[in-house]
Amino acid sequence: MNVRVGHLYPDYLNIYADRGNIAVLKTRAAWRGYRLEVRPLGAGAAIRRGEHDLFYVGGGQDREQALIAPELAALGPALRDAFDDGAAFLAVCGGYQLLGRFYRDQSGDELPGIGLLPLHTVAGSRRMIGDVLLECELEPGSKRTLAGFENHAGRTILDEGAEPLGRVVAGFGNDGESGYEGCRTGRAIGTYLHGPLLPRNPWLADWLLAQAIAHRTGAPPAFEPLPDELERQAHDVSARRAEARGGRF
Ligand code: GLN
Repeated sequence: MNVRVGHLYPDYLNIYADRGNIAVLKTRAAWRGYRLEVRPLGAGAAIRRGEHDLFYVGGGQDREQALIAPELAALGPALRDAFDDGAAFLAVCGGYQLLGRFYRDQSGDELPGIGLLPLHTVAGSRRMIGDVLLECELEPGSKRTLAGFENHAGRTILDEGAEPLGRVVAGFGNDGESGYEGCRTGRAIGTYLHGPLLPRNPWLADWLLAQAIAHRTGAPPAFEPLPDELERQAHDVSARRAEARGGRF
């Protein structure tokens, strides 16, 4: 079965190897007998309801975000419609910021977002850089950790009642103060975690794949666990680095 992924602005929003997240999704889908069909989506892309099962967008410097934000905002209605139809989303850093209402960048310009996630972002003067460790509970009762790397000037403010992706164990997170990182709304996940994120957090890759397949079939498949020994080691190294030095200017 094909799982159709819309990769938003791959040529503009792709830093710290964010493109690697697609490679992980492709490989883990193939190991389970699914084929990931990845379509690059940019200005004026035709996004029809129900056609994509998962949308992915990576991070980018303020300059790249400013170049594409108005076009991405124009795709906003179609992307929100796809979300309402049950498509999954993974957005990293600069992409995460543009899934909110707006990002006021370091020059003070307000870049429009698509308003899918209940949040806005304002750049601060000092960048928040380093390893991060989060505690998450995407499914009630199933506590997991996420380990990655952050580098952002943006301080993201979640709306009252909005659900963060996780609690910060080590690192800065959304704003260096709230103690939370990222945002999750239904099948949409936004996070500041680069690395890339998914090779060292395979459980999240499987969760996203299951959501994408559920969009196509109506129910998430029960995946057989994979050995993931190397992934576990990569996670542990990243987690220890975060505990040792995350969240310090
Ligand atoms: N340009 C944005 C910021 O500085 C996002 C950076 C990123 O994607 N790493 O906050």
